[in-house]
Amino acid sequence: MRLAWRSGRPLYTERVRKRVAILGITGSIGQQAREIVEAHPGLELVAAASGSRPVDGIAPLTQVGGDLTDLLEAAAPDVVLNAVVGFAGLPATLWALEHGVDLALANKESLVAAGELALAARRRGGGRLLPVDSEHSAVFQCLEGRAADTVAGVVLTASGGPFRGRTRAELADVSPEEALAHPTWRMGPKITVDSATLANKGLELIEAHFLFGVPYERIEVVIHPTSVVHAVVRFRDGALFAHLGHPDMRVPISYALTYPERAATPAPSLELAGLTLAFEAPDLEAFPLLALARWAGEAGGTAPCAFNAANEEAVAAFLAGRLPFVGIADVVERVVTEADVTPARDLDELVEADARARRMAENALAVAA
Ligand code: MG
Repeated sequence: MRLAWRSGRPLYTERVRKRVAILGITGSIGQQAREIVEAHPGLELVAAASGSRPVDGIAPLTQVGGDLTDLLEAAAPDVVLNAVVGFAGLPATLWALEHGVDLALANKESLVAAGELALAARRRGGGRLLPVDSEHSAVFQCLEGRAADTVAGVVLTASGGPFRGRTRAELADVSPEEALAHPTWRMGPKITVDSATLANKGLELIEAHFLFGVPYERIEVVIHPTSVVHAVVRFRDGALFAHLGHPDMRVPISYALTYPERAATPAPSLELAGLTLAFEAPDLEAFPLLALARWAGEAGGTAPCAFNAANEEAVAAFLAGRLPFVGIADVVERVVTEADVTPARDLDELVEADARARRMAENALAVAA
């Protein structure tokens, strides 16, 4: 079936009407979300925010930096696309879930660091959590309408990044430029390095646990170099459901913004003739951050928060030329194994755990330098 696009404009038949707030609008996800909102007559951009770049005039209500909950309060959106980078995205996530507002979530920290708080907010407020990350959107779509007790497991796919197939020794002196050359997905620098180390898949593993309520031992990661299969769900009868498509973030972004209508997008449909699909197990020795993330997830409490904070510091040091590529995992391992794990009861405790992990990472960096 061909998508109904003529002269570059989609022909929409859906009835979806939503007031949209885009947080992190100047980033890669935010810009693609803005294109989708502008092309869709039923979507109205009512608020826009960025961390530091100017956003004047983009939307009726705009804000640069700071606490975004007042902006959301004033804008009264139907859906909040949270593509804020880092910890700063947390208050907006909690606001949407507490207020029963749809949350199109692209901020990893919301679930990695604060998964338990986010789920508690959703229980109280009833906000819908619509994942924007391609893998989680795929799992979400495969799970729709299925009873939880029919699900045997979830499989997240990883492209393997630019260094797939290399040994730890062969990774010793790779440069930031090499790490930033992602073979399939076009993304910002932090997440591109995280894809090269597999830390990104580790963060996604933790997110998947909170999003879908699946225990860690039933979440697998497989390497799938072409990024055509975005995720697989195993059901108890032996059936596997997979979500396929070109690696194009506009698909999951559009799905979350127009849910449950599934609007048309400019992404082309995948040609199946001649397509072959390859999968392999990840090499946890060369890419230990995946195993470390699983360890932190299973430890629970503030451990995933510490993993995330240490990884952010280490990646920043790598990009600045202060740390070799393999040093990223060394710094994170040191922090997650040495940090005290406490229950993540409120935002203040998480902020404190985050700051503590960053200080420990800085100390580890000083030793490594
Ligand atoms: Mg992803």
